[in-house]
Amino acid sequence: MDDCIFCKISKGEIPTEFLYEDDRAVAFDDINPEAPVHVIIIPREHIPSFNDLGPEHKDLLGHLSLVMKEVARLKGVQESGYRILTNCGTGAGQVVFHLHFHLLGGKRFR
Ligand code: AMP
Ligand code: ZN
Repeated sequence: MDDCIFCKISKGEIPTEFLYEDDRAVAFDDINPEAPVHVIIIPREHIPSFNDLGPEHKDLLGHLSLVMKEVARLKGVQESGYRILTNCGTGAGQVVFHLHFHLLGGKRFR
């Protein structure tokens, strides 16, 4: 997707420091953090939202889960606790329509 900001980040077209990267996933700090630790985890594949996932993405989703766990370890919040979420659709607050997960930590959540 030519005009997708997260595709551009994944391809290196927008200079962004990667906390983690492999052939299928990339993780980077959120530009507007809502917690001391706020990381965005994305698949390199352009999937607009959680609603667009299909059976063909089962392995990718499992992989992303392990990447998120690794990001939590790298950020030092694996034991203190962290929250993972995805906003699906405008009504849920999704702004970037390239599937992504937020990993938040470093503070106490209610
Ligand atoms: P969402 O509301 O779930 O679509 O969240 C999009 C998130 O992407 C927001 O938390 C933004 O701060 C974050 N974001 C947007 N552009 C960038 C960028 N260039 N680098 C890092 N994070 C970004
Ligand atoms: Zn994209």
